[in-house]
Order: sequence, then C-alpha cells, then structure tokens
Amino acid sequence: MTTHPERSSAELIEVEDAKLAHNYHPLPVVVAEAEGAWVRDVEGRRYLDMLAGYSALNFGHRNPVLIEAAHRQLDRLTLTSRAFHNDRLAGFAEQLADLTGLDMTLPMNTGAEAVESGIKLARKWAYEVKGVAQDQANIVVAEGNFHGRTTTIVSFSDDPVARTNFGPFTPGFRSVPYDDLAAMEAAIDENTAAVLIEPIQGEAGVLIPSDGYLAGVRELTRRHNVLFIADEIQSGLGRTGTTLAVEHEGVQPDLLLLGKALGGGIVPVSAVVGRREVVRVLGPGQHGSTFGGNPLAAAVGSAVVGLLETGEFQQRAKDLGAVLTERLGALVGRGVLGYRSRGLWAGVDIDPEIGTGREVSKLLMAEGVLVKDTHGSTIRLAPPLSISEEDLRTAIDSLERVLSR
Ligand SMILES: *Cc1c(COP(=O)(O)O)cnc(C)c1O
Repeated sequence: MTTHPERSSAELIEVEDAKLAHNYHPLPVVVAEAEGAWVRDVEGRRYLDMLAGYSALNFGHRNPVLIEAAHRQLDRLTLTSRAFHNDRLAGFAEQLADLTGLDMTLPMNTGAEAVESGIKLARKWAYEVKGVAQDQANIVVAEGNFHGRTTTIVSFSDDPVARTNFGPFTPGFRSVPYDDLAAMEAAIDENTAAVLIEPIQGEAGVLIPSDGYLAGVRELTRRHNVLFIADEIQSGLGRTGTTLAVEHEGVQPDLLLLGKALGGGIVPVSAVVGRREVVRVLGPGQHGSTFGGNPLAAAVGSAVVGLLETGEFQQRAKDLGAVLTERLGALVGRGVLGYRSRGLWAGVDIDPEIGTGREVSKLLMAEGVLVKDTHGSTIRLAPPLSISEEDLRTAIDSLERVLSR
C-alpha cells in the first residue's frame, strides 16, 4: 500500500477513470479544500462554488457552527444503532417538529431513503387507515420528477438515462404533467394513497409551478383523502427564501421529505417528517436503517435546524436572491434565453448559439466559478446561502463575460 500525497489533478482524474464506476461526468476539477463559498483544487487554484453540493451545502463548506457541533459529538458518541436510545435523537425530532409544524420524524440517511420511506408510509397508511384493498394502492407523481436512484424511484422517473436497462420496475405509480391540477385530479381514484411532488422541480431545471398549484394540490388531496408528500430534499431548508418551499403558498403537506442540507455538508442525514396519524402506522421491525438517527447525524441535524431557527439564512436567500434575479434579468437576450429563480436558486437557459450547458460550465470553471449543467442547455445556480453579495456578483460577472465572448 502506497500513498500518493503529491499527485496532480490530471493524474487523479486518470486513476478515477480507471478505478471508479463512470456513473458521473464531473468537471475536470479536483477539489482538495474548502471554506464558505470557496473551494481550492489540488494545484491551489480557487473557485467559487455556485452548486453547493446540489444544496447539501446551504450553510457553506465547513460552516464553523456545524463543524463545532460535529467535533463535539465525535468526542462523545457516534453510533448506537436504534437497538438502543441515544441522547441526541429526541431533541432533533423535537426541533424538526417545531421547525415544520408537523408531529413525528422517521430518521434516515440519504434522500432516496427518505423518498422510499415516504412511499412505504403512504402505502401502509392507505391499507390500514384509508382502507384501500390489498396491493391496490397507487401514488400519483409528476412528469420530469427527480426523487433519487433506487429501483422503485426510477420506476416512476421519465428520464430514459435513469431508467434504461434497470427494469423490471415497481408498479403502483401514475405520472401526470407537472403544474397541472386537472390532470392530477383525473389520475386520483379511490385507491390513491398519495401525491408525491417536488414543490419546485430542481433537476428538471428549477421549474417553478404556477401560483396556486401547491395550494391546489393541498386542497384536492384533502378533498380525496389522499396524502400530500412534498419532496423538499433540494428545495427545503432555506434555499428559496423560506424554511420550506411550500411556505410560499402557506401549505402544509402530510409528509415532508428532507435531506441534503440537513446533514450540513458533513454527513448524510435525511428525514420524513409527518403527521402523527401517518407516521404512527409503523411498528417495530417494519422499517429501519442501521445508521438512521445516529447520534452524529442527529447532532449535526440539530445544529442545522438551530441555524434555520434564527431565520438568518432564509433572509439571506431572499436578499441575495433579489440580486441574482436582477442580474440574470439583465442577461436575457445577451446569451440567456430565459431563467427561473426563487430565493438563491436559479435555472438559466443558455442560448445554444453560445454553447451547451456543459461547455458554458467549462468556460466558467476556467474563470474560477463552478456550476452544473442540466438537460443540455440549462445551468443551475445554487451557491451556499452564506455567500457574500460581492462573491455572488463576481460569479455573475464571470457568467456575463463567458456569455459575451
Ligand atoms: C437529491 C434529491 C433526492 C435524492 O437524494 P440522495 O441523497 O441523492 O439520495 C431526492 N429528491 C430530490 C428532490 C433531490 O433533489
């Protein structure tokens, strides 16, 4: 066994190419250190991180409050399994209930696990509370969705890249156009357990539904005795200027799926937070996770909720979001075809004359700004909510330069 502390970015990328599954196509930057909104690569070049781990880094890289909470917990207790209680979990669940106005938490690790857990809860609720006939439950989802990568979750994706050759798929899902209440209502029948949607579709390109859509989903799910499951794994925890994206329409779902930023960019932490009537259908042994609710995750998650309780990050997302929107607006017709934004989160459609999203991402990388493309010609902007206004403006200046070449 040898270590290679001095290997260059190019060498490390070559080894990755040979030794790692090719399920990602990263930009050719090898990050070695980070702080706040900035990362540094192996050669010492600095970049502004305008992706923030797909919103897993809402509070910035190595946020000092979160790192301190993790360090303190590392020195005390890291894992018990749920075979025993640990002294961090109760407080975490209490805080999540206070933050969301919901009752009970089912702690998991990754986002996909939270989605799977939400699906299982909804089905069990349908059979045991709603009275749906055995194995007849269906769940209504939206076209263009992204909810994760498990076999069940890709079963109701409509992205051929995510699905091809992964069948057979899990039955029991009905897909309807996003932002279309009439189509949703038409798909609901007496066997419908839940509607599962993203309040804003992130991977699809930051698609924001029409005003009234989320309130409409809430109204029709209530009227049909169907659960409303909101996947806020990417949209939640401050990103859009409120704690949750559903708050923009004053709506409360029955089950809320959280992940990404809940782990503070330190450990994977996810959760289903829901109404008691739904979450309580689970009994001992019926669902679980070895790492779910571990004390390190709970300590970091508690510290994350602590940051959100101040309202500071939601306010930053609002204020900086106004700057972002104004700057993007000025780029329309100048390399940008259009954009959608809410809070500090934007999908920007690049004029194909300028290049693909990937090409623009590479040009931005050369300027010291990291972004991620999606769906060919769109780039996504989602910097840490802790970014300074000056750094945000610097990043947009770079985009402006790249688009006017
Ligand atoms: C990222 C994401 C997931 C999946 O989370 P993982 O932690 O990658 O499993 C699910 N839903 C949404 C909306 C996401 O953005």
